[in-house]
Amino acid sequence: MEPECGLALSARKVEYIKFIFETGGTVRTTMIATAFSVDPSTITKTLAELAAGGYIRHVPYHGVCLTETGERHAEFLIKRHRILSLMLVRNGLLPEEACREASQFESLVSKKAVDRICHFMGHPRQGICGEITHDNDCLEREEGASS
Ligand SMILES: [Zn+2]
Ligand SMILES: [Zn+2]
Repeated sequence: MEPECGLALSARKVEYIKFIFETGGTVRTTMIATAFSVDPSTITKTLAELAAGGYIRHVPYHGVCLTETGERHAEFLIKRHRILSLMLVRNGLLPEEACREASQFESLVSKKAVDRICHFMGHPRQGICGEITHDNDCLEREEGASS
């Protein structure tokens, strides 16, 4: 399954996937619970849904890690965050405000919209919290193109 539209995951799942990606390798469930101050039982349920969706897999006795699909999707999630937060900074927000605000609504912005915004902004290389990468999806997109 390929979450092409970019809207398949809730805000919370987006944050978990970004966290696992940025932590790298196999991440303990308790570490995720601590980082997000949530009950381990809630985490277990959400992680089971992410595993069912093919984004992560359980590593017995060690925690969870991203699948190939999960990693590819994480790259998109991070790019989306950096494009949207940079957009907010260019419109007057402070960097830390922009990061926080973007995290609150980014899960509702489609991949298509992110690619269009990236194109419109001239494919910026540096976001406020890291580098931004570009691929054929945003580079080849003509303004106003459908599909
Ligand atoms: Zn940020
Ligand atoms: Zn781009």
